[in-house]
Amino acid sequence: MCMFLRRLRMANAGTSSFILSSQMLCLSACMKAVSNMKIVKEGDKRQVVCANCGLTQATYLLRDIDFSDQSGTVKNVLAAVCDSCNEIASIPKQSTAKVKAEYNKIKTPVDIRLPAHFLDILTLAGQKIDPTLTDSFNKPLVLYYLHALSSGRYPSKDLNDLLHSDLAKAKASKRFSFKLNDNSLSEIKILIDSQGLKNNTEVFKSVILKINEDIVQQRNPKHLPELQNFAAAFA
Ligand SMILES: [Zn+2]
Repeated sequence: MCMFLRRLRMANAGTSSFILSSQMLCLSACMKAVSNMKIVKEGDKRQVVCANCGLTQATYLLRDIDFSDQSGTVKNVLAAVCDSCNEIASIPKQSTAKVKAEYNKIKTPVDIRLPAHFLDILTLAGQKIDPTLTDSFNKPLVLYYLHALSSGRYPSKDLNDLLHSDLAKAKASKRFSFKLNDNSLSEIKILIDSQGLKNNTEVFKSVILKINEDIVQQRNPKHLPELQNFAAAFA
C-alpha cells in the first residue's frame, strides 16, 4: 500500500471526513485505470448515493476539500454535490488525481549534520555534471541518487562499506536540511531496511559517498549523460 493511502487510512480512524471514503481508498486502482477515464464537466448531473439522503441526484460543482488530518486543502476540485442536502456525495476520478498531487506536496523537514567535505563532494559532482550549476543543485542531486539507489536503478550494495571508509570519518560540523515528501521518506526506509543502515544520517552520508565514487572520482562517470539530462532543468 502506498504511503498516501496509508496516511488516509490512519486518519480515517478518528474522523468521518468525506475525503476518507472508500472511493478514495481505491485511488491507486483508479489511477491505473486512467486510460479509460470518463471526464465529467462542471454542471453535469448524476445519480449518487448520498450519506445523508440515500439514492439522489447530484451536480458536479467546484468545492474545496480538506485533508482529514488538517494537513492541507485542495482548492476548487470538481465534486458531486447532493442536490438535496448540498453535501459532497462523491469525488470523480479526475479530481482524485489532483487531490493526490496536492497531498504529495506535503513535506516533512529532515535535518542532519554532515562533515564539511561532504558538501564539497556535492559541489564537485555538480560542477562535473554541468559547470554552470550552482549549489542549489546539491539537494536535487542527492534526492535523484536516493531514488536511483532505492529503486535499483543504480546498485546500492556497497553503501554500508562506504560508511566505513576513511572519507566517512570526520567531525559532522555542517547542517544539511531537507523538506521531503512521502516518496523520499519511503526511499530512505527502503535503503535503511535493505542495506542495514541505522538512520537518515547514515543514508544521506552513504548516498553522498556514492556520488563521490560514481561521479567525482571517475574520469568518465557512467551515469553522466543521464545526470546531465536531469540537471538541464536546474542549470
Ligand atoms: Zn444529500
